[in-house]
Amino acid sequence: MSTTKRPLSILVLSRNRKLYSTSRLVEAGEKRGHQIRVIDPLRCYMNISSHRPSVHYKGETLPPVDAIIPRIGASITFYGTAVVRQFEMMGTFSLNESVAISRARDKLRSLQLLSRKGIGLPVSGFGYSPDDTQDLIQLVGGAPLVVKLLEGTQGKGVVLAETDKAAESVIDAFRGLRAYFLTQEFISEARGADIRCLVIGDKVVASMMRQAKDGEFRSNLHRGGHAKPIRITPEERSTAVRAARIMGLNLAGVDLMRSNHGPVVLEVNSSPGLQGIEEATGKDIAGMVIEFLEKHGKPGKTRTRGT
Ligand code: ADP
Ligand code: GLU
Repeated sequence: MSTTKRPLSILVLSRNRKLYSTSRLVEAGEKRGHQIRVIDPLRCYMNISSHRPSVHYKGETLPPVDAIIPRIGASITFYGTAVVRQFEMMGTFSLNESVAISRARDKLRSLQLLSRKGIGLPVSGFGYSPDDTQDLIQLVGGAPLVVKLLEGTQGKGVVLAETDKAAESVIDAFRGLRAYFLTQEFISEARGADIRCLVIGDKVVASMMRQAKDGEFRSNLHRGGHAKPIRITPEERSTAVRAARIMGLNLAGVDLMRSNHGPVVLEVNSSPGLQGIEEATGKDIAGMVIEFLEKHGKPGKTRTRGT
């Protein structure tokens, strides 16, 4: 596909223009001659009348744009995806569509969709009744196992249970909080390392290995993990690309682990942070995102039906 020479008008939907990823996207867009503006999704409001959907921002009716880049944090998923959907109703191209963002935010739904397509996953269990706790633990091979809250981010609510008894206590505690959780096979052979693959379109454009600090099994950078660039295998590459495609995401951060049954996907992130991966690899990921929009961000290109 040929690249548009015409400057694009692009909106970045982000709560804070000073965030690394947001400011890098603005910088990359401007460098390539585009008109790029940051708006706070929580200050967007909508007119949902028949035939003339519109988005308003601090008293202004937003003029049509070529594309939007949603950077919707987990805590504002409902409102943020409603705003993205409203742009889609107006025929605006969204880097990631509202349905895909909602899908990715639901960890359980994501795992179910990935499993149907045969993507490698840690063996995972999900259940409701306390009567089934023992079975949920045995289903994933017994201790050591991981118990994780469905709603957690940045490694919060991900617990390694060394014994079946410990797993039971954690599960009881989560139940007491009325929180849904997964039981999951512990991938000990990965030795506290996971791989973040940054996917744009149908390519892994960068990847890094994140290693947990000593005494910690979670490799999140927020938990003191450190990152370095890594060469991934063709199987890992195709797993990441397929996972992003199954989720329907054009931009995705796919987290993998190296298990003794091949690469397994832990999660697929719809607003992957750019700082860690740009710093670890020295690549201009923000520039590649803008390049993707140059190829695809044309009016009326949205395929979503907002369902
Ligand atoms: P979050 O979305 O909160 O980051 P994750 O499910 O990605 O939650 O888990 C956080 C970290 O914990 C992962 O990056 C990984 O290092 C570790 N981890 C998660 N699940 C497993 C598992 N089944 N086996 C081994 N380590 C795991
Ligand atoms: N912004 C969060 C982070 O940097 C989540 C996005 C991601 O996982 O890349 O960790």
